[in-house]
Formats: sequence, structure tokens, C-alpha cells
Amino acid sequence: MTVTLEKSVQDFISTPRQLFIGGQWVDAASGRTFATPNPATGDTLAHIAEADREDVDRAVRAARAAFEEGPWSRMTASERGRIIWRIGDLIEQYGDELAQLESLDNGKPYAVARAADIPLAAELFRYMAGWATKIEGNTISLSVPYMPGSEFHAYTLREPIGVVAQIIPWNFPLLMAAWKLGPALTTGNTVILKPAEQTPLSALRLAEIMAEAGLPDGVVNVLPGYGETAGAALAAHDGVDKVAFTGSTEVGKLIVQAAAGNLKKVSLELGGKSPNVVFDDVDPALAIPGAANAIFFNHGQCCVAGSRLFVHESRFDEVVGGVADIARGIKLGSGLDPETQMGPLVSDEQFRRVTGYLESGRAEGARTVAGGQRHGDRGYFVQPTVITDTTPDMSIVREEIFGPVVVASPFSSLDELAAQANDTAYGLGAGIWTRDVNKAHALAKRLRAGTVWINCYNVFDAALPFGGYKQSGWGREMGHEVLEAYTEVKAVCTQLHP
Ligand code: NDP
Repeated sequence: MTVTLEKSVQDFISTPRQLFIGGQWVDAASGRTFATPNPATGDTLAHIAEADREDVDRAVRAARAAFEEGPWSRMTASERGRIIWRIGDLIEQYGDELAQLESLDNGKPYAVARAADIPLAAELFRYMAGWATKIEGNTISLSVPYMPGSEFHAYTLREPIGVVAQIIPWNFPLLMAAWKLGPALTTGNTVILKPAEQTPLSALRLAEIMAEAGLPDGVVNVLPGYGETAGAALAAHDGVDKVAFTGSTEVGKLIVQAAAGNLKKVSLELGGKSPNVVFDDVDPALAIPGAANAIFFNHGQCCVAGSRLFVHESRFDEVVGGVADIARGIKLGSGLDPETQMGPLVSDEQFRRVTGYLESGRAEGARTVAGGQRHGDRGYFVQPTVITDTTPDMSIVREEIFGPVVVASPFSSLDELAAQANDTAYGLGAGIWTRDVNKAHALAKRLRAGTVWINCYNVFDAALPFGGYKQSGWGREMGHEVLEAYTEVKAVCTQLHP
């Protein structure tokens, strides 16, 4: 038994999909298309127009016109907020369809997309809709030392940055689009969104939904295509005022270089190698499934996956054994099979990358206690894997694997643990499992990470800021912190001559 595809989904994938520029569906200027595969089988799922430099130019022009001249720039904040709220409502209304597209394109279980990705995306738009009417500046008292006796009226305005390019990955395709679009729109910017080549479908359906919600033409343009062509052209484009990127740290550095041409603003949400710490006083019934969920959720294809598990030496065998038992019991299969708990990795490239790390771990002498192999002989399935007996210099300990693979090591003291946990180029997330509030908060303070979860993991909310220390990124997504990444501050100073 599998989930029966809605007719609208069948129609959506059976028709070649076009680019969305200036409110119109158009072919790529080159006429080229690319195929997006179904990761559960490797077969072609749909054909998509492939954007390149010329399409980027057209989309930037459309976004600029919508920013400078369109109804968007004249709308009240309240009207803007209402459209953004309606986008959230429509995502909820089309939730089954969107979850099916997401499962087909990315491989994740339909039930997970339906319970997590879709409602989180809807809520993100609703949370950001509320901010539209609350973007405020300050009034400021001046004491200019070289103008004694002068009086001033000074204030700040928070204004949109302008035309924003947003380049997103494939692990949560719709949700990453929502994280990026919500704050850009509520602050009045216009956008060119480039979804990942592996998962363009839900972003294209979202373009239809945004038009249905009343978003004026040109405010959001959607350009599927390749990173090295369309993505690079967007990051370098002189007509783009800001680029927001989520993906690998390696490409994040390329974005920074490309942005230097016109010094466009940059925000980055990059990789991670997050520590998840289990102390000796834990309830194993919470900590063991918690540690398994931290790494295996979304097949480990999470920037914030708890991929380095540190367990107090007195509980190491029990906790790691428990996580390994869960790993062995996870049912792999097509995302559309209701029994499936873990789907395939997103692509052949990702499959080869993850299995390459499994090989390198074995070659370097690490011990695989669960999984470690491909699952089946079709599609991109990898067994949930638990590895021990590692050393801090191994590539499986240092590098982001982005698959269902956790490396576990024991610790004895808090000082030793804090040093090991922070011994990484990344600083995105961390988990702590303990009944002792003193230990929990003392360690939370010492960890160099943008999010610390205590006795939970992978808890996301539109109100909770998310982003990285160190090489995990620049700036924050979500919460009110993200609004700073999409606004310029203008200081206005008037001398009063009464
Ligand atoms: P990338 O960083 O290559 O892809 C992310 C996005 O950037 C995609 O839209 C991609 O386009 C685009 N892109 C790629 N190259 C450029 C470029 N030169 N200029 C502008 N945009 C570009 O990630 P991958 O998909 O290759 O995954 C590789 C690794 O990245 C993973 O194994 C994982 O470690 C990490 N990653 C981290 C994510 C996170 O959430 N922080 C998400 C995804 C990956 P396209 O895909 O169309 O080529």
C-alpha cells in the first residue's frame, strides 16, 4: 500500500514546469530543461526549465521593477501582512498535495512532510505576517559636543534592502523557501528564489500559491537551475542588493566571494557537526530515543543533525547500544509507503558522498556497531549507522556527512567534554541530556553554537532564532532577529531652529 497521489500532483509532475518571472510562467531563454529524479527509484520524476544567466537578468529586472514601481512598494504594512498570512493559510489548505510533492522529490516520508514540513512552513508565514505592522525605528536623543545649545529631532527608519536573491538546499525544500521568503516579504523586499536542482517542485507550486494569495507580479520570482550557473549568476549580479544562502560551508564561501563585486549584503546558514551530550544521570527512556532522533530525523540530512554523540563513560555501552538497536529497527522504504520510517537520501551524489564516508571510517579503523551499508539495490538508501572507536582527527568526526551516520565517544569530565564538543569548525547546534539544571545551563553557556537544546532535539519554531557560530554561518533565520538581515537602518537627523 502506498499513498495515492492526488490528481493535482500527477498533473503537476506530468507537465514540464517553467520558470516564474514577473508573474508569468516562461521557458528558459536557452530552451534547456533538466530532469529531477525520484530518489526512491532513480527514475525521472519531472522535467523542469533550467534557468541561466539571461533568465537571472530578466528576473532581477522584474524584481527591481516590483520593488521600485509596483503596487508592493505602495502597499500598507497591513495589506502586506494579510497577503503573507494568506500564503500560510493556502499552504495549510494544499497541505496534502505539497507533502506528496515533497515526499516524491526529496524522498522523505509523506507522513513526516505532512506533520512537520508543511505546518512549519504555514506557521512561518503567519508568524512573519504579524511582523509586517511592527517594523519600527527609534527616536534618539542627541548630545552633539561641538554644537552646544543645539536642538535636534533624530530618528531611525527600518527600510527593506531591495532585491534579494535566495539560494536554498534540498533537505527541507518548502520549509527553507518559507524561512527565506517570510522575513524578506514582511519587510517589503522583492525576491528571486533559486531552489536546489534536486528539489524544485514545491517551490514552483509555492509560486502558484503566492500568486493565488494576491502577491503582486515580480515580488517573488522562482528560478530552478544549477548552482554553478543560475546560483553563481545571482550571487554575483550587480542588480541584487542582498543574497541569502543555505547550504554547504564550501559554497557559502563562494557566495561571499561572488557578493564582493557590489558588496551586496550576505546572510549564510551553513553546515554543522553538532555535539549531542548525554550525562550519567539521564533517564534512558528519554535520552536514547532522543539521541537517535537527533541524528536520524530527515535521514541525517539536517544541517543541525546531532552527528557527534558524547556519552558519559559510565553509561556509554547502554546508551550507544540503545541507539544502535533503534537504528537496526528503522524501516527504510519509499516515502509514499505509510510503513516507511526513513526514505532514501536525496540523490546519487549524496548517496556516494555518505557511503564514501562510511568507507573512510572503516579504512581509518573506526568500528561500525549498526548499519554501515547501502540498503537494497535500487534508489539511494543508506542504513542508519552508529560508529564508535573513532579518533578526533578522522574525517568522519571532523566533516559534515549529511546522512544517517553518528559517531559516538565517551567522556569523563565536563571540562574534557566542553573542549571536545567545541573542537569543530562549525557551531550550529548542540544537545544536552541531563536531570541536573546546573550542569545543563553551565554547559549550554560554554558551547559555541547558535542553538542548544536541553532534553530535546530538533525543536523548531518560527519564533526561535536559528543560525550558526563560527563557520556555520552569518546572521539568524526566524525570530525577530531575522528582520535585521532584511532591513537597512536609516538615521534621519533634523536640527530644530525654534
Ligand atoms: P550546496 O551547498 O552545493 O547547495 C546548496 C544550494 O546552493 C543549491 O541551491 C545549489 O544549487 C546552490 N549552489 C551550488 N553551487 C553554487 C554556486 N557556486 N553559487 C551559487 N549557488 C550555488 O550543497 P549540496 O547540495 O552540494 O550538498 C553538499 C553538502 O552541503 C551536503 O553534504 C551537506 O554537507 C551540505 N548541505 C548543508 C545544508 C544546510 O542545511 N546547511 C543543506 C544542503 C547541503 P544546485 O543544487 O541546484 O546545484
